[in-house]
Amino acid sequence: MQDQNVVKKIDVAVVGSGPAGHVAAIQMAKFGLSTVLIGPAHSGTDGRTTALLGSSVSYLERLGLWQAVKAEGQALRVMRLIDDTGRLLRAPTTEFDSSEISLEAFGYNIDNNKLVAALHAGLDGTQDNLIEDQQFASSVSLDEDKASITMQDGTIWQAKLAIAADGRQSLVKAAANIEMRKWSYPQAAFVLNLRHGSTPHNNTSTEFHTKTGPFTLVPYQDAYTSSLVCVVTPETAAELKAMSHETLALELERRAHSIYGAFEILTEPQVFPLAGMVAKGFCGPRAALIAESAHVFPPIGAQGLNLSLRDIEALADAIEDQGTTGLQDPGNDKLLAAYDRSRRADIWSRTAGVHMLNMSLLSALPFGQGARTAGLALANMVPSFRRFMMKAGLDAPSRIGSVGGPAND
Ligand SMILES: Cc1cc2nc3c(=O)[nH]c(=O)nc-3n(C[C@H](O)[C@H](O)[C@H](O)COP(=O)(O)OP(=O)(O)OC[C@H]3O[C@@H](n4cnc5c(N)ncnc54)[C@H](O)[C@@H]3O)c2cc1C
Repeated sequence: MQDQNVVKKIDVAVVGSGPAGHVAAIQMAKFGLSTVLIGPAHSGTDGRTTALLGSSVSYLERLGLWQAVKAEGQALRVMRLIDDTGRLLRAPTTEFDSSEISLEAFGYNIDNNKLVAALHAGLDGTQDNLIEDQQFASSVSLDEDKASITMQDGTIWQAKLAIAADGRQSLVKAAANIEMRKWSYPQAAFVLNLRHGSTPHNNTSTEFHTKTGPFTLVPYQDAYTSSLVCVVTPETAAELKAMSHETLALELERRAHSIYGAFEILTEPQVFPLAGMVAKGFCGPRAALIAESAHVFPPIGAQGLNLSLRDIEALADAIEDQGTTGLQDPGNDKLLAAYDRSRRADIWSRTAGVHMLNMSLLSALPFGQGARTAGLALANMVPSFRRFMMKAGLDAPSRIGSVGGPAND
């Protein structure tokens, strides 16, 4: 005879234990909701870094998580964009300085492994409302009154609300039967971290716009290290990955026009094929989609996780807006519909913005190139437009006015 499955009841089940899942679980537990964070312990082998910008900083501050995260990061004070397409129609080099919008920094860049470790330490501050189940969920079903998540060992979590933080192949999203718009790009991100011992980065992030995508150096662990996201064709990414560290360092220095002198490779390169994906809706019965279960786009302009944190903030707002009802039943239909409505403009506009910027680099057509060139030229000439662009990169369209200092010219 088969063993009976153990059923455990809980207010909220957060499926997926990446950075978004951690923050969502902490937010729910801070509301006093009993919460389980489902997913394996972080492997510590992610070679990427994440730039957390503007509203992400203030949100993590409110959750009491920012100081631990900040301690692991490097401030991003200046963002420099250099047109390296070699085309006839080239954009002027443009520098955005956070002091122009009265911010000490646009944000901080943090090693993903350290980010998750800092967030994991934050689980301790959740007053026993939060537990972890460090296995993969093997199936999810969603009914009118509950979400049921079956774990590898047969345990079933029954929750009033399931939060899908389980990434692109989300089981929760599949159970909610939510359609996706998907597309692909002829590009891959080649990612590693490096040292440039002769020249400091001065807290500047430098993005060369090339014909295959951006080549971006972002301050990493100290003044003399940067993380690289180099967007190229999948074939070039494979060629770069096959190089010895010495040859690769020379090749990357060439691509960076030696702005920081010689490079030393610090971490093994990783390659991420670029894709785009956006859900046609952000909730299902008893389920809210957040982060990469809801939206995926190329790593241009450091937007992915920042958008995901705004998903969590919006879900928290929807719960708070309902007062006691929201706290008693955080997965009720009305609440989830409000969450869904509140995320549409931000997610769609961010996805479209990143897509257009990427396509303007790839485009051989003068119109695509011209729009980007004109935008950057305008940013160089008109301070109020430059400030608008900076603020637009840091927060949702509906909140741009609240970022940084006054915008009068
Ligand atoms: C090269 C690159 C650079 C980037 N740089 C930036 C940046 O600078 N700024 C920025 O904001 N964003 C950036 N992004 C995007 C950012 O990395 C992602 O948005 C972020 O990693 C997503 O975090 P997440 O928690 O949503 O997903 P993930 O980190 O993918 O986490 C999903 C989690 O779900 C777990 N999981 C999956 N299936 C199950 C299951 N069945 N049961 C339980 N758990 C499950 C997985 O184990 C994983 O832990 C970048 C992306 C790339 C590719």
